[in-house]
Amino acid sequence: GADIPEDHPRYESLLTRHRIEAGVDKGITSRQGLIAQGRGEAFDYLLGEETLPSAGDAERAAAAHLLAADHPVLSVNGNVAALVPEAIVDLAAATEADIEVNLFNRTTERMERIADHLREHGAEAVKGLTADGRIPGLSHERGTVDADGIGDADVVLVPLEDGDRAEALGETGKTEIVIDLNPGSRSARAATVPIIDNVLRAVPNITHHARRLADAPPEELAYVIDSFDREEALAAAEAAIRQGSFTDEDETDGAETDGG
Ligand code: ATP
Ligand code: MG
Repeated sequence: GADIPEDHPRYESLLTRHRIEAGVDKGITSRQGLIAQGRGEAFDYLLGEETLPSAGDAERAAAAHLLAADHPVLSVNGNVAALVPEAIVDLAAATEADIEVNLFNRTTERMERIADHLREHGAEAVKGLTADGRIPGLSHERGTVDADGIGDADVVLVPLEDGDRAEALGETGKTEIVIDLNPGSRSARAATVPIIDNVLRAVPNITHHARRLADAPPEELAYVIDSFDREEALAAAEAAIRQGSFTDEDETDGAETDGG
């Protein structure tokens, strides 16, 4: 069951696992998704399960890109749908973005289940099922998108994307925002804006920045976009992992938080 005590030191990690398991049971997350989850967890552990300042900068840059876009699209796969369905709907509302289901292991049944799941969490329109567009350089199976969705987008958020697909999407000239806990993954390396953070934290953080930047003039959005340095962000995440975060600072300071 989901009865995880909130004061458990690994509360978030256990909650994440539970949501992914539930996603598999509901037929929205693939078994491959379980493996991806395990990889992500390992990197999150090494990052201290916190948003690095450099990731916060990336999240702000992502918000600026989405707001400045003509046609922003948020791509959703089985892990994202299981972990952050409401947060994706909120981000779409805050940035006037389309939501498109896009799967590495595409089956119509799973596409429909994910679309239903997103609608249950408040999504109005969900793209992805028309499947009349293509990303060049990928097999038919892997490269299918909606022509009026990702096919037409100028800015695409792809959380937890497969490396090959992230590279092919990058080649189209679209601005690609990737959320991936592994700073060495090809997906992160292919991104215009790599966000090295857990989707659980990253998606609400982007929304927070988007709300704060909602009335910003185009020059300010351009400034936020231009001042983000992707190489620096990747290097900062890698340095944080190498340096390690195995000290118990948070547990020994004695300060109780009320959990907000
Ligand atoms: P490459 O991009 O180099 O091909 P890969 O094949 O190892 O890398 P994928 O199979 O594309 O990786 O997908 C899993 C990726 O998603 C991993 O890099 C993992 O760290 C990341 N990931 C898994 N869960 C999360 C999460 N909750 N938040 C952010 N990233 C996650
Ligand atoms: Mg990858």
